[in-house]
Amino acid sequence: MSPVTHFLSGWVVATVAPLDRRDRALVTFASVIPDIDGFGLPFEVLTRGSPHPLTWWSDYHHLLGHNLGFTLLTTLIAAFISKRKVITMTLVFVTFHLHLLQDVLGARGPDGHQWPIPYLLPFSNQWQLVWRGQWALNAWPNFVLTLILILVTIYLAWKKGYSPVEMFSARADQAFVHALRRRFGAGSKDFA
Ligand SMILES: [Zn+2]
Repeated sequence: MSPVTHFLSGWVVATVAPLDRRDRALVTFASVIPDIDGFGLPFEVLTRGSPHPLTWWSDYHHLLGHNLGFTLLTTLIAAFISKRKVITMTLVFVTFHLHLLQDVLGARGPDGHQWPIPYLLPFSNQWQLVWRGQWALNAWPNFVLTLILILVTIYLAWKKGYSPVEMFSARADQAFVHALRRRFGAGSKDFA
């Protein structure tokens, strides 16, 4: 699925626990971090047709970041830098897997490639997760899911008093929440 879908899914999951802004950011980042293995895309596009084409996108995407080893590494990093460690680590583990699940469900490439997920790497190459019914990246279920996530995010921002904008600027986040509450009325009691 698209980075936006992954990102909003992660943020919505992060709001289920009473975490602070940084821990919520960690849980949210875990839902997009597997796609860091897509770093090769610009190199592959730029060198296509050259005498020495780089195939880092085809070689590494859905390989390096989409597996159990990288999940454990991400969870370990969260353990070091989070405040509420147990709950943050648990949710990091959950949103990372949510990313993998979303890719299995709806990330078929334009060429029909299913990008199997080598889940047990680097411990074993045994499992290559694919689902026969997988829909394409640009298929309607992804648009519907993204639209629902946007609506849920707006609702949560109105109700709880913070939104994913907090990851970029606390001030912009408050301005966004304020605008929502002016438009739709005050949210919950914790509206400061
Ligand atoms: Zn992915």
